[in-house]
Amino acid sequence: MGKTVLSVENLSTFYKTDKGISRAVENVSFTVEEGEILGLIGESGCGKSTVAQSILRLIEYPGKVVKGKVFLHEKELISASEADLYDIRWSEISVIPQSAMNALNPVHRIGEQIMEAILIHEHVSKKEALDRTKVLLELVGIDRERWKSYPHEFSGGMKQRVAIAMALACYPKMIISDESTTGLDVLTQSQVIALLKDLQRKMNLSIILISHDLPMVTSISDKIAIMYAGKLVEWASTDDILHDARHPYSRALLDATPDLINRDKKIVSIPGTVPNLVNIKSCCRFHTRCPFAFERCKVEEPELKEVKPGHFAACFLEEENHELTYTS
Ligand code: ADP
Ligand code: MG
Repeated sequence: MGKTVLSVENLSTFYKTDKGISRAVENVSFTVEEGEILGLIGESGCGKSTVAQSILRLIEYPGKVVKGKVFLHEKELISASEADLYDIRWSEISVIPQSAMNALNPVHRIGEQIMEAILIHEHVSKKEALDRTKVLLELVGIDRERWKSYPHEFSGGMKQRVAIAMALACYPKMIISDESTTGLDVLTQSQVIALLKDLQRKMNLSIILISHDLPMVTSISDKIAIMYAGKLVEWASTDDILHDARHPYSRALLDATPDLINRDKKIVSIPGTVPNLVNIKSCCRFHTRCPFAFERCKVEEPELKEVKPGHFAACFLEEENHELTYTS
């Protein structure tokens, strides 16, 4: 580790709605190092997919990236040409969307679909593309001869593996998995997660693992970034998030999570809901649900600050030295 692969700087992406501007992602900054797995966590509607789509510049009207930069190595993606992006999306960075396994074409052999992804983006012969397809299938734990199978011959978990093989078709350095295990049964989910970890090791891949499921992500992530209502509220090593979370939202997420070791743990759900982001005023967006909120949180927006080396949080409690006393 050590080399930065992806750097997101002050990214803001808004959506135009009938009622005004939805500030879906605002001033989000983080980096991902070579070979690192970053878990991007938050409840539904917190802006995780918008971040992923902004990085790949797949945001469409009524959405727009209004501010910020995204560097993939030295290349800036927000200002890159469509032609550059077309290649970058497969050969440098690719995404496994939530519905990936359902996106497989039912009338084509799975191997042919992976081959097609290779042939569109690289000047290689059909034989080379087929050979690589077989290697990719083996890499994701599928017998190489199954390239001849059709999607309906595969289980959900196997189709998800094919979707991962497809994302790896042009050997990108980074993949973004956007809730790609959501909807699979728990056992299959953990197998897919184990596969991602295995691929990260074998290929020195950098991975952004987007999920609303904190425990699933902590098992393999080096770092965790927590989003709330369009803002990055905490970003730290997985260990720090688990044992020294600073933001009340991170703590609330942890409290809302069952503990497999300590089964007696009291699970406390987070009261309230994510606020409407249309025309949202300057404030800490979590203040309406935060047990520690004080006046300043209602009128001012906390910025992400380094609270200790490599550990960032956006909360006024950190600056004002308020004690976070938790009963749980
Ligand atoms: P997540 O992936 O964390 O569930 P999203 O990125 O999908 O969150 O959504 C973040 C916010 O952006 C939400 O408030 C959502 O309502 C808003 N949003 C997403 N897509 C659109 C759209 N096409 N038009 C208007 N608002 C949108
Ligand atoms: Mg999403």
